[in-house]
Amino acid sequence: MIKVNKLEPQQYYIEHIKDKASYKEIDADVKNRIKLDMLGREQNHVCCYCEIEIKNIEDSHIDHVIPQSMLNQGVKLPSGKADPGGLDYKNFLVSCNHKDTCGCKKQNAYPEEFINPTIDDPKEYMAYNLFSGELKPIGDETKIPFEQTEKTLNLNNKRLITYRKNFIAQLYTYLSQPDAFIMFAKQYKEQPTLIQQFIEEML
Ligand SMILES: [Zn+2]
Repeated sequence: MIKVNKLEPQQYYIEHIKDKASYKEIDADVKNRIKLDMLGREQNHVCCYCEIEIKNIEDSHIDHVIPQSMLNQGVKLPSGKADPGGLDYKNFLVSCNHKDTCGCKKQNAYPEEFINPTIDDPKEYMAYNLFSGELKPIGDETKIPFEQTEKTLNLNNKRLITYRKNFIAQLYTYLSQPDAFIMFAKQYKEQPTLIQQFIEEML
């Protein structure tokens, strides 16, 4: 899970939503443009939750971090603003479309201690086991937010753990050649937090 530093919405989006009351009124081509913007400007082309590259925007969707169903019941955004129509750009993230994890698994859930990557830095709550590929809380005090978030997004499901385990095995092959590793890490889009942790712990 990456920390996403949300930028201000672009002018075309501000113009487009001027006469809109809710998210469902946004045109499909505008939604696609927002996805491309977010992937390019804020997420380095990866799903914010599983950190796998989104190569085709058709394989992704806009996730309301605080779900629309909660917003229209009056739950406020972290900024303190109400957003009953679910239009606030800073509450948007791009998630992959895997049915068993991430935004598709999350749907309308937002437990009380959910780690919100637009305001919280996930690294302060969780880290990878660099052998098994599992995510784990970094300490007792982060256990509850970690468990609530992991359960909501299913980040320790079998597919992701196997994928990360294989990826970590690939990283270990670079241990004897740190220069090649740095080159690889600079160019590789996927798993930025895992690569970062590997650099900090192993190199
Ligand atoms: Zn994902």
